[in-house]
Amino acid sequence: MKKIISVVGARPNFIKIAPVHRAFQKYKDEIEHLICHTGQHFDEKMSKVFFDELQMTKPDFYLGIGGGSHAVQTARIMIEFEKILLEEKPDLVIVPGDVNSTLAASLVAAKLHIPVAHVEAGLRSFDRKMPEEVNRVLTDEISDFLFVTEKSGLENLKHEGVDDSKVFFTGNVMIDSLVHFMPVIDKSDILEKLDLEAGKYVLATFHRPSNVDSKDELEKLVDALNRISEIRKIIFPVHPRTRNKLTEFGLSAKMSRDIVTLDPIGYIDFLSFTKNAELVVTDSGGIQEETTFLGVQCITVRDNTERPVTSEIGTNHMIGTDFQKVVEAAKRILSGKKKEGKIPELWDGKAAERIAEIISTNIRSF
Ligand code: UDP
Repeated sequence: MKKIISVVGARPNFIKIAPVHRAFQKYKDEIEHLICHTGQHFDEKMSKVFFDELQMTKPDFYLGIGGGSHAVQTARIMIEFEKILLEEKPDLVIVPGDVNSTLAASLVAAKLHIPVAHVEAGLRSFDRKMPEEVNRVLTDEISDFLFVTEKSGLENLKHEGVDDSKVFFTGNVMIDSLVHFMPVIDKSDILEKLDLEAGKYVLATFHRPSNVDSKDELEKLVDALNRISEIRKIIFPVHPRTRNKLTEFGLSAKMSRDIVTLDPIGYIDFLSFTKNAELVVTDSGGIQEETTFLGVQCITVRDNTERPVTSEIGTNHMIGTDFQKVVEAAKRILSGKKKEGKIPELWDGKAAERIAEIISTNIRSF
């Protein structure tokens, strides 16, 4: 029996590992797939709800590392995860995404000579000020299996000299979750609960430090949302980081009454909001992909994206961080000037099955 440990820490990780865990059920006589939750996101609304809704088993290991600076968090995860690896001696460690847990776990495994598989490899924003970019580059460098979601990832890894034999174009596990749970998403009654009409509201999410950590930027963001809310009601589930900053800078009261702020919401209701929105305005990574898959217009308030396929062939509008331009783009889109999008290659709901198959074939020789 071979043993694999997948390491998750933050909201998007849970969504990415759920289909991988499901795909390994097919190989349960030969592979034991365990889940380690680092605790990076720990509360009910950012963590537990995803385990419940995505029908994941409870984590097999829980490290309880929440909060702290990047260095403290990464270091503490490394210390605790090393103990697990020494005890469990897995044959492979899987790390999804680009959070501190991703880098910390892959570093520990690589130094103990345990092969590492990176799910969502090769994405690059080319912006090293973004903490996630540092995590991506370093994780890819020490990974043995690199599972890529879009073609730009293949090119980036080639440029960086990564050996072709380690790289696999498998598609997008985030979309696997979306496809799998679509029938449940379609049954959500969250729109009725909030008295919303499908296709008649804007959904907003913001949490990137570059947008929310300085008072100046956050104030401009609130102002831009206020202006958009003059023409459409906005639903704004607020990330804990953003909520804290809005309070710290005294900006919560400056938000228009046409912006409905909510706590972070569970996956199913959030995707129902996304699917039925006229427009999504965000700085999220994953939401750029989900809107492209769903054909929903999305404005990404960032100067770059590590997911270029979403704007090249999808419905993502890369407007930059000039809020005046963001408001103008929102008005344009809401007046009917929509972008036609296509679904990127291999975003078909079967990425995790491909990943599990590749791993099960290779793991026999470890
Ligand atoms: N999401 C959610 N509830 C929310 C906001 C987001 O379930 O209130 C989901 C969303 O559908 C997406 C994921 O969380 O699948 C994205 O996570 P986030 O934006 O936090 O991270 P990023 O993708 O930017 O790393």
